[in-house]
Amino acid sequence: MNTATPMATSAGAVKATSPRRNLATLQRQLFIYAQDLRDLMEQQALLQRRYQLVLQSHGRSNQSADVLLDAIPKSIDAYLVTDSQGEIVRASPGAQRAFASGGPELKGKFIWQYIHWSHLEIVTTLLAKFVGVGATGAVEQRKLVLLDSTMQRDIIYDALVMPVRKLDRLEMFWLLSAEVQSGLSDIEIQKLMLMSSDCAEGLLICDASGLVRSVNPAFSRITGYSASDMVGENPRLLSSGRQDADFYRSYWTYLTDAGSWTGEFFNRKKNGHIYAEWKSVRAVKNERDETVSYISAIVDITHRDSEAQQLANLAYHDSLTGLPNRRLLEDRLTQAMVIASREASNFCVMYIDLDKFKPINDEFGHQVGDLVLLEVSARLQATVRHSDMVARVGGDEFVILLQSPVNDEDAYSIASSVLSALSAPIQLPDGKVLSISVSMGGARYPIDGDDVPTLLQNADAAMYGAKRFGLDFSFFETGSIVHPAPDLGFEIWKALERQELYLLYQPQVTPDKSRTVRGCEVLLRWKHAVFGDLFPLTFIPIAERNGAIVALGYWVLETACQQLSQWQAGGLPDLTLSVNISSRQLQDPQFAERVGQILLAHGIKPSSLELEISEADAMQYLQDGRSRLSQLREMAVKIAIDDFGSGYSSLSRLASLPIHRLKIDQSFVRDLAQSGEARAISDCFIGVAAAMGMQVTAGGVESEAQMEVLASQGCNLVQGYLTGKPMSAEAFLSWALPSGQQPPERV
Ligand code: C2E
Ligand code: MG
Repeated sequence: MNTATPMATSAGAVKATSPRRNLATLQRQLFIYAQDLRDLMEQQALLQRRYQLVLQSHGRSNQSADVLLDAIPKSIDAYLVTDSQGEIVRASPGAQRAFASGGPELKGKFIWQYIHWSHLEIVTTLLAKFVGVGATGAVEQRKLVLLDSTMQRDIIYDALVMPVRKLDRLEMFWLLSAEVQSGLSDIEIQKLMLMSSDCAEGLLICDASGLVRSVNPAFSRITGYSASDMVGENPRLLSSGRQDADFYRSYWTYLTDAGSWTGEFFNRKKNGHIYAEWKSVRAVKNERDETVSYISAIVDITHRDSEAQQLANLAYHDSLTGLPNRRLLEDRLTQAMVIASREASNFCVMYIDLDKFKPINDEFGHQVGDLVLLEVSARLQATVRHSDMVARVGGDEFVILLQSPVNDEDAYSIASSVLSALSAPIQLPDGKVLSISVSMGGARYPIDGDDVPTLLQNADAAMYGAKRFGLDFSFFETGSIVHPAPDLGFEIWKALERQELYLLYQPQVTPDKSRTVRGCEVLLRWKHAVFGDLFPLTFIPIAERNGAIVALGYWVLETACQQLSQWQAGGLPDLTLSVNISSRQLQDPQFAERVGQILLAHGIKPSSLELEISEADAMQYLQDGRSRLSQLREMAVKIAIDDFGSGYSSLSRLASLPIHRLKIDQSFVRDLAQSGEARAISDCFIGVAAAMGMQVTAGGVESEAQMEVLASQGCNLVQGYLTGKPMSAEAFLSWALPSGQQPPERV
């Protein structure tokens, strides 16, 4: 395994070109600039306050210029009077100082030469308008960019322009107040660009509204966009679509709150190629703590093969998997905490530890160990949402950061997807197949820890707790780790006897406007006398390991079929029961026969039963399970592949099984509204399934937007919190009965 730390060994060799060093220098320079800017802002704020005083006492225009000027307090002096041609006929000492300090008298000059070229047209239009009106009473307030005496600074002024009639002449009265949010001047930007012209880092300067004011040559080299392409544009121009709305929301919230942001972006070059950039953004503030500019430094980290780029990347990424390392994870956690505490929301971290990884290394060698780690990291990344982060924090330890608010049930369901993705066998190059198992622990912000070290420590403790309890996943519970581990494996045999198991039913409906209910998925729960409600994820894997799942599975089938016959007697239309089946259940040679007996006993048509088998299990059963599945199909029982897409199997191989339906894995549905990639994947699944004569159900549908996409793609059925959470049998009956009934209380 690659455990060397090139940072330590090769830092000296690349010292002169280290982009991190240049970035640091650049940042220091930017700080100095920010300081200068702050001084300038202070002066401007003074003028601003004075202007407010004038506005309070004046602002009426139907007075002569002399009356107006007399009324202005002596301390207020930034005003000009011009004739209708723009010639300055009078200038206050303040205006003289601001625009022509030590230079020629303003009187007799034309106002044009002090107006920034970009605003000349505004002034022409104003003068033309006033001359056209030829009268008083027309006051205009505009923002004007004026140049100072050195022509080195441009300052945005709030200008109150009033035409004033003086004898037979029309004069313009320009009352000027420097605006505080002037941002960096063109000259300052030029200086910054000069300083950074031979830098390897790209530099991008935006104004307070986020529009680009300037870029340096390195930026153009990296992106292919010249300064003239970029100036005045929104940097969105470079967007690759790889970051979703959630990402940008967190980015802006963090930047606004913390004043800076560092991290990785995927952007698109002018030639259309997507590249990875390491970006460091800083907000420049004025003395009122308002942001006036954004300065970003970027490094292209797409090709991680050059030493310098590797160094920039290494500090924050794991060298084997390329995943974010602990340092970057801690950065992101800090950001997530700022956002969550501001929005009074929560988030969750999950610690994942590979069980018995050391023996894999010892037995098969480090190369195979590395392969396993690479495969695990790829599967983890494919399972979580774009906005979530997977980091490698130790040899065989990974952490998932679930950024958006999640409730415990969602977290369990994500943990379940992770476990099922990792349970699929890993194919080694020599044809051998390896299976791994993992332990997972979760900690929620803020209830399980409100600082980074505590939250990580508690997720780690929860993971060890899960390991010790013989569970696959557990949340952190204060004190739970020190309890003697209950033997859930033993308890589960007792659960049936003690009648602690019960079922919930989740509706499956058509995605069209009618939302007709076609069936429901049967979901098992365990109300343990001491531990309370337990989710399947906590006990199904244990039951699978010790064989209790076989008895449990028959109980589920029996209870669900009995329930369906009661519902039918209660007037429910023809519904299909979807029952989850573990691979261990299929190993029972009597399975098909027992299923037939249960159906017969409750008078249920075999076609009203659909058995859900996970994709990973189905792949295992390609050989010996095929005949058992075929037996069931011959009885007209339907077979569905659950969590389809999570198990890396090829559809063409699955096609040899007698499958009636695919259930698209929730992880694809989750991103449907934001991600074109997810839409393309579900479109492809639905299209291929239809071509192979299979139906498709999408699970985990939570929003109308997801529903719309699925409906437009021809998905047959949907299931999820949007249309109905898992509910008790009674609740389901009143929910599914034809209209006119009271909606039931959901469980
Ligand atoms: P599954 O078959 O993929 O079941 C769907 C899971 O997603 C359920 O979790 C359900 O509560 C959850 N879910 C449904 N709609 C949404 C939604 O809109 N958003 C989110 N985030 N989650 C949603 P549950 O009940 O915890 O079940 C977890 C897994 O446990 C099931 O995954 C299934 O594989 C297994 N399982 C459940 N009951 C049985 C059973 O009777 N026998 C066997 N062998 N396995 C079962
Ligand atoms: Mg299922």
